[in-house]
Amino acid sequence: MNCRHCGMPLQHTFLDLGFAPPSNAYLSKEALTRPELYFPLKIKVCDHCWLVQTEDYASADSFFTAEYAYFSSTSIGWLAHAKRYAEKMIAELSLTSASHVIEVASNDGYLLKNFVEAGIPCLGIEPTNSTADAAEQLGIPVLRKFFGEAQGERLAIEGKQADLMIGNNVYAHVPDINDFTRGLKAALKRGGTTTLEFPHVMRLIEQTQFDTVYHEHFSYLSLYAVSRIFTAAGLRIWNVEELPTHGGSLRVYGCHADDPRDTQQSVDALLQEEATRGLQQLQTYLEFQPRADKIKNNLLTFLIEQKRQGKTVAAYGAAAKGNTLLNYAGVKPDLLPFVCDAAKAKQGQFMPGSHIPILPPERLAEVQPEFVLILPWNITEEVKTLNAELAKSGIRFVTAVPELHIA
Ligand SMILES: [Zn+2]
Repeated sequence: MNCRHCGMPLQHTFLDLGFAPPSNAYLSKEALTRPELYFPLKIKVCDHCWLVQTEDYASADSFFTAEYAYFSSTSIGWLAHAKRYAEKMIAELSLTSASHVIEVASNDGYLLKNFVEAGIPCLGIEPTNSTADAAEQLGIPVLRKFFGEAQGERLAIEGKQADLMIGNNVYAHVPDINDFTRGLKAALKRGGTTTLEFPHVMRLIEQTQFDTVYHEHFSYLSLYAVSRIFTAAGLRIWNVEELPTHGGSLRVYGCHADDPRDTQQSVDALLQEEATRGLQQLQTYLEFQPRADKIKNNLLTFLIEQKRQGKTVAAYGAAAKGNTLLNYAGVKPDLLPFVCDAAKAKQGQFMPGSHIPILPPERLAEVQPEFVLILPWNITEEVKTLNAELAKSGIRFVTAVPELHIA
């Protein structure tokens, strides 16, 4: 296989998690009687452009376009993050009713609704029908397409180029990252700004966040790699911010390569930090797997120890990263009998691979397990606040990444 960005042969494995079902392929009770599809979950690193990426395998693209029941609006913290972002962009870019905002992967409209409320014309691009329906009910026009260069050029021909072109939480999920970036270029007005948010591979490595690896996540991005991809597409990163979301993300600000805006000092500073932390050295990537294995082993030891002592451990948050962790560790309902999740669409379903049942959060108060393992560790504080009563009743919260921690 060759690198998705620069085309050089991919010779080095960053992480091998064996085989796993797609992390969002939740199962109904009936589906448990049928065979389940497992795909290789292996991540490579390109030692030419340092793009960290999933290994290609048969029929992946078609499989992962299936609809799934994730609605961004179910996370309170995420909604607040989106609102703050919209307010900041409207102020800094002086957006008005004469501006045009486009968001790729607009989901259920959780972000664009802030622009609609401010009277700024916008367009969502979202191929998933269920979430696109929800966005249209909020008054957001939605183009039900996958985005790439062809779509970007079509928007340009139709006179729909954007002053602000947003891609929050989509860049890492795009199979053809070069084509997507050329699409951003095509759909961006002269003088326009594009912003992308994505988990920062520097934080993934630093905090051993191996459970953020899943099939739908094609790229694990550094500022260095994204700068190269932007340059190849005729764009330039002129500013970057570090965000706490998803365990540490970047928000990059791009413009046309010949835009008069100066590149901010933030860009050079972060490129320098990445270099200092070894992001352009193969050894950094090769040392990752043993650290992931240690976390997996510590979790298993904890679960087995509680089981031996007759104590119950339940889980909270039927998130994608939970599926990666549980499937790599081989955890089944004997060690973790149920997981609670506030999303109604997931309740009554089963986790892919592990087949652990997903129940409403109220079950925790009824069952009173000794421990609750929070799978989406990035929202630990939100979960603890929502479940403060449980802590008072003696239930202890546990997280497994970046190391086993019992509160
Ligand atoms: Zn490469």
